[in-house]
Amino acid sequence: MPTHNLPTYTYILAGGGMAGLSLAYYLNQSSIPFDSILIIDQAEKNTRDKTWCYWSDQLETFDSVVEHSWDQLWFHSFDNRSDKFSILPFSYRKIQSDSWYAFIQKELKQNPKIQFIQTKVLGFSYEGRFANVRTDAGEFTATEKIFDSISAFPCELDNPQHLKQHFVGITIEANFPIFDPEAAHLFDFRIAHTTACEFIYVLPTSDRIALFEHTYFSGQLKEKQHYLDQIKAYLFGAYGLGEDDYLILEEESGIIPMTMSDAEPQNLYTKIIQIGTSGGFVKSTTGYSFLRTQRKLKELVTNLEIRHLDVPVNETKPFKKWMDRVFLQVLIDQKIKGNRVFESLFQKNKPQLILRFLEEQTTMREDLKLMTSVPTLPFVQAALKIGLTKLPFPRK
Ligand SMILES: Cc1cc2nc3c(=O)[nH]c(=O)nc-3n(C[C@H](O)[C@H](O)[C@H](O)COP(=O)(O)OP(=O)(O)OC[C@H]3O[C@@H](n4cnc5c(N)ncnc54)[C@H](O)[C@@H]3O)c2cc1C
Repeated sequence: MPTHNLPTYTYILAGGGMAGLSLAYYLNQSSIPFDSILIIDQAEKNTRDKTWCYWSDQLETFDSVVEHSWDQLWFHSFDNRSDKFSILPFSYRKIQSDSWYAFIQKELKQNPKIQFIQTKVLGFSYEGRFANVRTDAGEFTATEKIFDSISAFPCELDNPQHLKQHFVGITIEANFPIFDPEAAHLFDFRIAHTTACEFIYVLPTSDRIALFEHTYFSGQLKEKQHYLDQIKAYLFGAYGLGEDDYLILEEESGIIPMTMSDAEPQNLYTKIIQIGTSGGFVKSTTGYSFLRTQRKLKELVTNLEIRHLDVPVNETKPFKKWMDRVFLQVLIDQKIKGNRVFESLFQKNKPQLILRFLEEQTTMREDLKLMTSVPTLPFVQAALKIGLTKLPFPRK
């Protein structure tokens, strides 16, 4: 035990958002022995601050909290071509953060060994075999590990070379039935008038209620009003809805890093382990991380259970990582509009294949097929630019 008398826990989770709470859930269900777990978050986690969507062709851990799901997706190209795809056996599922926080906290609070504290984390330190976390409410020690989901991931907000997925969304209720809740609109590129990759994303959950998000995959952030104006124009252009025709129920916004870290991968011998966005769990080319985080954390807990401590916490196959780097470079260079890449992918391949590809579940042969379905020149140029320092295969 530590020699000082700071409050001591087996595990400390610095950050009790999506990744922190998910990890607590899996630790609680596992056979890993612990005397106590402390979850630290500066915010009271009970708000609808996020909408999490994921696609899957299986039952997933938090499906019971899914608010709505779709097995059809619209894809709208810049040139006005619209396709509605069935994605069966996949479905696209939506979870509201407030329902998820309530569900998971109810589970965790049944175990008196799991404690929550609402305070700000100020920093971390090591003391012999133990790790400490400094907070506004004092210092705490972890005898096993600290899981950190609060540290910033290397992505500079004002650096145009650092891609971000940035968006503002509003959920509206129309005065009359107008939406089709059977199909979501994954990409509407009809609004992509700039060289940046931008689109509208629409999730209708009833014939009157839908979430509209104006999203960019780009390095340069915009003023909030810009996204809102774009959504208003879209509501009018695509649905004929003027401002008097609907009520804004909710608003959400996000800036998700679309960069890749060159840091050495962490393994489970590490005392302070970064998870979630901080740990690079976001798929850099899409900004999705909900399902990836669940898969990575389940694996992490299994590895802790069986004491496989030398495995990387966040492993990605080198070829997949290389493809992501090349695609990100294409988006940065803007020699081709980002929408053209997605349009080629969706027009020339089955959506199920693309969904598996985006989840890194395709074989190398399938990857090569997909690579040849997009305009090749900008990809070759991007690959050359990335150069030999980022080869897809580890150099011996
Ligand atoms: C609006 C929005 C919508 C998204 N939609 C999707 C989606 O549809 N599908 C998908 O796959 N991904 C989505 N994402 C991306 C990703 O899934 C989320 O960002 C997810 O919440 C990341 O989990 P996390 O635990 O890393 O971060 P968070 O859930 O943000 O958790 C981090 C926690 O740390 C706390 N914290 C931060 N600093 C401190 C500090 N100093 N002290 C104490 N606590 C601190 C915060 O309060 C927060 O609770 C979305 C992101 C946003 C922002």
